[in-house]
Formats: sequence, C-alpha cells, structure tokens
Amino acid sequence: MNDTVNRDSAEDMPASRGVIAQTLARLDRLMRRLRGSEEPATSLPTDVVLTRPYPWEANYPEGLGWDHDLPERPLFALLDLAVEQYGERPCLDFLGRKSTYKEIGRMVDRAAKGFQALGVEKGVRVGLFLPNCPYYVIAFFAVLKAGGTVVNFNPLYAEREIARQIDDSGTTIMVTLNIRTMYPKVAARLKDTCLETIVVGSMGGLLPWRERTLFALLRRKEIADVAHDEHHITFKKLAANDGKFDPVAIDPVRDIAVQQYTGGTTGLPKGAELSHASLSANTEQVRIWATGAKPGEERVVGVLPLFHVFGMTAVMNSSLASGFEIILLPRFRLDQLLKVIDQQKPTVMLGVPTMYSAINGSKLLSDYDLSSLKFCISGGAPLPAQVQETFERLTGCSLVEGYGLTEAGPVCTINPFDSPRPGSVGLPLPGTLIEITSLDDPDRRLPIGQRGEICITGPQVMRGYAQRNGETAEALHGGRLHTGDVGFIDTDGYVYLIDRIKDLILSGGFNVYPRMVEEAVELHAAVEEVTVCGIPDQHRGEIVKAYVKLKEGKSLTSTQLRGFLRDKLAPFEQPRQIEFRDELPRTLIGKPSRHALIVEEMRRLNEESAVADPAS
Ligand code: AMP
Repeated sequence: MNDTVNRDSAEDMPASRGVIAQTLARLDRLMRRLRGSEEPATSLPTDVVLTRPYPWEANYPEGLGWDHDLPERPLFALLDLAVEQYGERPCLDFLGRKSTYKEIGRMVDRAAKGFQALGVEKGVRVGLFLPNCPYYVIAFFAVLKAGGTVVNFNPLYAEREIARQIDDSGTTIMVTLNIRTMYPKVAARLKDTCLETIVVGSMGGLLPWRERTLFALLRRKEIADVAHDEHHITFKKLAANDGKFDPVAIDPVRDIAVQQYTGGTTGLPKGAELSHASLSANTEQVRIWATGAKPGEERVVGVLPLFHVFGMTAVMNSSLASGFEIILLPRFRLDQLLKVIDQQKPTVMLGVPTMYSAINGSKLLSDYDLSSLKFCISGGAPLPAQVQETFERLTGCSLVEGYGLTEAGPVCTINPFDSPRPGSVGLPLPGTLIEITSLDDPDRRLPIGQRGEICITGPQVMRGYAQRNGETAEALHGGRLHTGDVGFIDTDGYVYLIDRIKDLILSGGFNVYPRMVEEAVELHAAVEEVTVCGIPDQHRGEIVKAYVKLKEGKSLTSTQLRGFLRDKLAPFEQPRQIEFRDELPRTLIGKPSRHALIVEEMRRLNEESAVADPAS
C-alpha cells in the first residue's frame, strides 16, 4: 500500500535505529526458515477453525460490532448520499479553492454524460493519470456513473511502464493534466498502445482566480502544447452539458469499479479487479472504525496519492462517505504539509511511515502548530514504535497502524484508537476474517499464536487478476486471499506481521517490483543476468539493489548502467546500489535466488552492527 511519498521528501528523514533491530530479527527468522528449523510440523493440529465470537471482537471500539452491515451497492452511491446529506458543506479544498459537495456532485454528473458521449459503458477502461486534484475525484466517480472501470496510473512511472499498463488493461481513454511533466508521457502512447482518446484538464482552471493569473504569467513554461485533433478533448468540453447522463444498472458484486495494478506475490504488475461491492464495503469498514470522528465535521489532509488504493479508499472514499472536507495536496512536500496542518487545522491524516518520520525529523517543527490532528493512521509499511511515539508526543493525536493490500481494497486491519498494541497492525475490520495458514500447506489453518501466511476472507477481497486465471487461482486458493505476508494473531485477536514471502520491495513509501527493475536492466546489451532485491536501509526502510552478471568479454560501470536506466524506470525504482558479480546465487531448482542475496546482506549488516556496538 505504497507509492506514496515523493523522492525528495524521503531524503530528509531521520535515521531509524529500529531498522537494525528489525533487520536482525528478520535475519534470524530467515535463517531458521532456510535451515528448516521452524516449529516442527508434526506438533501442529491438522486444521484449526476460528469460530465466532472471534478473539478480536472483544477489543473492538465501543459500539461497533464485527457483523456491522456493509453495503453492497454501486461505489458512486456514497457520493450521491453525501451530496444529499452534506450538499452545502465544503467537499474539496485544492490550493485554496474550495468546492461544496453539491458542486462536485454536479460536475460528476456532467463529466459522466461527457464520458458516455465518448463511448464509456460497461467494460470500457478509463485511465486516470493525475496527481491529487479535483479532476481526479470528479473523473473517478464520473467514469463509474457512466458504467466504466477506472484504471489508476502512477504519474511517476516511466513511459514503457505506462505503455505496458495501458495495453494490459485495454485502457482506451486517459484523463490527464496539460502540464509538461504529465501530458507528453500520455500523448506519445496514442501511437504505440491501444489508447485512443485523451481528456486533458487545465491546471490553471483548478486554481483560485488570483493564483490562476499568476500561474498563467509566471509558469507558462510548465504548460504542455496539447494537440487539437480527434484524439483530444478538454475536460471543460467533456463537462459542458446538462449532466443528464443515462443511468447504468450496476451489478455491485460482478461489475468492476477499479482495476488496480499491483505486483501480487510475484512477477510483473497485474490488474486486481475490485468490484463496486468490494470497494463500497472497504470504504465503510474504514469509515466506521474511527468511532469518535464526527460525520460532516472532520477535515482530512489528502496527502496520500489518490491513484494508490490506500489513498483512494481510506482518504477519498471514506472521507466523502462521512461528509468530511478533504484538503488535497498534489504531492508530498514536507514544508507544504506542515503549513497546511498549521493553517487549515485538519483533524484527520492518513499516511505512510516515511511521512510521519519526515514530520518528526523536520527542523522547522517549532514554527508550526500540529495540534489540530486527532485521528491519524499509518499503513503500507512497518511503523517503527519510535516514529509513532514521537509523532504522538509532538501532535497530541493518536497515530495507529493498519495493514492491507491492493487485492483487498486495501484495508484489512487497523489498531483501535483507544487500545492500540505496539508492534501490531491491529484488529481485523468488521466482516473480515483473518486466518493463518501453514507455509508448507496452504490448506492447513494454524492455531492462534502460530506463524504462517496471513489469509483474508471478507467482502473487500478482489474478484481476481484481470486475464490471469492461474495467478488468480493461486492468490484465492481455498476461497481465501493468500497475502504473501507472514504473521500471527495473538489471543486478543491483534495481528502481527513478521515477514514477507512475496518479492515486493517497500522503499521510502513506494512499492517496487523487482521483476520490473530486472527487465529494464536486462535490456542492456552487456548484461547476461540480474537479480534485484530490497536490502535494509535506515532512511527508506529498504532500498533497491541490483546484482549484475555481465556477458563474457563485456564491460560496464555502475555509472553507465545508471545512465542507461534513467528513462526506463521511475526515480523511485532506480537501483541505489549496483554490484557486479561473476556468478549469481540460485535456488535448488536453478532459479535466481533473491533470498540468498538478502541473507548475505543481512549477515553483513549484522557483522557491521556488532563491530559498531561490541556490547550487543
Ligand atoms: P499494496 O498492494 O501496494 O497495498 O502493498 C501491500 C503490501 O504492503 C502488503 O502485502 C504488505 O507486505 C505491505 N504492508 C502493508 N501494510 C503494512 C504494514 N502496516 N506493515 C508492514 N507491511 C505492510
């Protein structure tokens, strides 16, 4: 649940001492697993079935039941209900320009009619290639009302990654902004992918009138030259109608609202199909968890990117369903975030650990008042205890950790605000059953306290990966979502994560899929073989390291390879370390072994920390 922090911000994060301890614990677990010295399988019962009341129910926030009613309805119904209930209240604040729920609702209906005129109906994929801004929110709900499916694109992706995702999803219409850092990346795809039409929003049109004039005068260079032809339409023109679109009968359980790209447990990103019902359920599961939050009153900092499933569900959908005001920030810039909290007094924030850590480490903290924050949630990567404690001390709020993954819409667990447990990712949300299965036998459920793969059953779980039946069957084996995460549940129902089976690298708030990086490195003519893995790093949690074997007689330096990769990978995917080797380790069946390389790195770190601290 990452892809959430920009590169610059991660640079000024303070070092986290917890990382070394976590690294050593992970090394210990890995070594035990590799030696096969986990608890002997023979002592385990064959299959342990959890029954109601589940252990976590006793620790639920007061007044909330596990069997809380979760709606099975079109996802856009949440916005319609909010427009009805909170019409005149502020809905979005973007760089000082505010829109009410009524205004946003009206724009959504107009854009829905515009999308239908472009041919959007059931089965049509519409891509959103946008930073956080009102166009994102409007286009998202308008595509759904027109009957289509949203495909989110990370604006930081390199061109070949965008092309791959367009073709894999069958995206024929893309919504983007008329700025140089975005539009050209999409326009070039009209030639080499199945993309047919680009809807272009005007950056200036989003700003309050004073800023708009300044933008037009001072930042003209940032505006892209947009072609005027049959493949382009402006957002303004798209929405220039009476808003009377043709209502589409949605089957909430079968119809796919969002096709969200993720690496899954292995390999290249694939599209997780999240139905209207899944996302409606997950929105409600998150929304009701903060029982102290007041509908129609709270203000949320929208700093997580909405194109990522965490931001989409937990920031956008849950906040809109409660009539909150969302202060949308186009990207994570620490100074801007601190200013917004100080001046606009939001009460709710959702973020990834690197954001909280960056705030804690800011040299400017004494200039800002952060005390308006009441409810804060961290997810996507482990939240070090010291980051949580420091943030709570600085702001006076409760910062609790949650856990989830794209395939579950994404949120599965959150700590209760009044009784969080350190080191735990919290309790399974209403309607969510978490079971732990054996790493050797995915059908065998383990008793409370034992470690295994975290498996999820609940209304928020995806229908499958688009056009990938084999991988879908594996991920949903036995009717449970197999997460690729290793953990356990304690006797009170709190869930703990201890390891990852899947190849995902969590780096400074971003998800990096090693296979994507390997494919880019392999394009170099001098490279024979490459293995990419995430190695522990004090600042970013993990960093990307590439181990490269060259073809015989070829030479290549890391600087040359870095230059080669510059336009092939997003900045956050670039290998921070490159090591050339004569041979790369392999598994018993001859596949390149990431685990062997990670174990080597951890051993090295272990030795270094023993030298640095002989007493430990
Ligand atoms: P994504 O599909 O991008 O949302 O990534 C999901 C993955 O991020 C999970 O399967 C976990 O490996 C990891 N993750 C999510 N939340 C946490 C957390 N609180 N602590 C550690 N890892 C997490």
